[in-house]
Amino acid sequence: MAPEFSLVTPTLRDLDLKGKRVLVRVDFNVPQDASGAITDDTRIRAALPTIQEILKQGGHPILMSHLGRPKGKVVEALRLVPMGERLEELAGVHVTKLDDCIGAGVVAAIARADPKGIVLLENVRFHDGDEKSDVEFARELAANGDVFVNDAFGSSHRDHASVCGVARLLPSCAGLLLEREIAAFKRVLEEPELPYVAILGGAKISDKLAVIDALLDRVTTLLVGGGMAYTLLAANGYRVGKSLVQVDQVDAVKRALAKAARLKVEVCLPEDHVCAAAFGEHEKAVAVDGPDIPGDLMGLDIGPKTRAKFASRIRTAKTVVWNGPMGVFEWPSFRDGTAAVGQAVAACAGYTVIGGGDSVAAIEMLGLASEIKHISTGGGASLELLEGTLLPGIAALQRAGPH
Ligand code: AMP
Repeated sequence: MAPEFSLVTPTLRDLDLKGKRVLVRVDFNVPQDASGAITDDTRIRAALPTIQEILKQGGHPILMSHLGRPKGKVVEALRLVPMGERLEELAGVHVTKLDDCIGAGVVAAIARADPKGIVLLENVRFHDGDEKSDVEFARELAANGDVFVNDAFGSSHRDHASVCGVARLLPSCAGLLLEREIAAFKRVLEEPELPYVAILGGAKISDKLAVIDALLDRVTTLLVGGGMAYTLLAANGYRVGKSLVQVDQVDAVKRALAKAARLKVEVCLPEDHVCAAAFGEHEKAVAVDGPDIPGDLMGLDIGPKTRAKFASRIRTAKTVVWNGPMGVFEWPSFRDGTAAVGQAVAACAGYTVIGGGDSVAAIEMLGLASEIKHISTGGGASLELLEGTLLPGIAALQRAGPH
């Protein structure tokens, strides 16, 4: 059953922010290099509209985020200092970075901070109460604000104190980023325009069976590439050589294929491949024309025939959802399939949504991100939504109701 979405989720327009401490859950869990330098600040940029709107309405933004997996302990390398510095550059207002996220000292520092600036609290996962969704920890976080805004779509599938617990304690709403994500997924989940093409790829079929099952109820065509495609090919009786296959998933895959046949959903699997003798960046790419892969090779990308077929389905779609690369796109020799799909999605005039870190990285690598109607900031969260699960972070806002 389709989840009940945002219709009742309060937004920034429903809360009076003037003169209020506005506690905002953001997702500043950005990639960093070994020296701690930020290598991709997309998630910080994505939070700017909400922060600016709060400042415009006379609210004082108090931001909180997690970073990595410190497991309840202070880990120096996982402090939010670089994120605060980048935020200050991007927002053009002063950012006060605090050394903790709870306690009387934090509350007092917020009271002293310039209300026309931004406060950034320290990594919420330095306390184990966050991931445990501890009510006392949520209370301490809530003491930092008068109202709560969830703008962390990428964390909204987690029932954590800083996502859900605080929403149960303060007047709460969705930020602009979360609102945009909900609107995009609403469009592909509730009465999407047909033809609707879903493209799934990535390594493991076991991670994607639930989403395949849910998508089959909605889509016209399912295109499958990447490592996961070989389990489907094996289930259909093809030879897959040394390709990645999850033997224990074959029965579940057969059930999904039977459901597709019953619902008359077209399932397109690779019809040719780019293979190699072993899994390695500098392995020689070998073209295999036809679905069967010889015993001494493994499939690492979809071949040209498959690319053309997938592109033809994508070109005429009115709705497209893409999650997961078509091959080992990190390596130039096995990137063409993912690039071809990315180009086709970018050229599609319909409503196009990309979710999942790898597909987003691929579309950015191609320089085509601006051609996509919606690029989701949440990989796991977007998959769970497509599975038809109402995310706990969104449900908590709905329970909080309009204020
Ligand atoms: P996932 O995290 O499940 O979306 O998988 C993404 C990963 O799948 C990427 O790192 C790809 O390199 C990898 N991948 C894609 N196609 C293949 C393939 N044919 N064999 C092995 N790994 C693959």
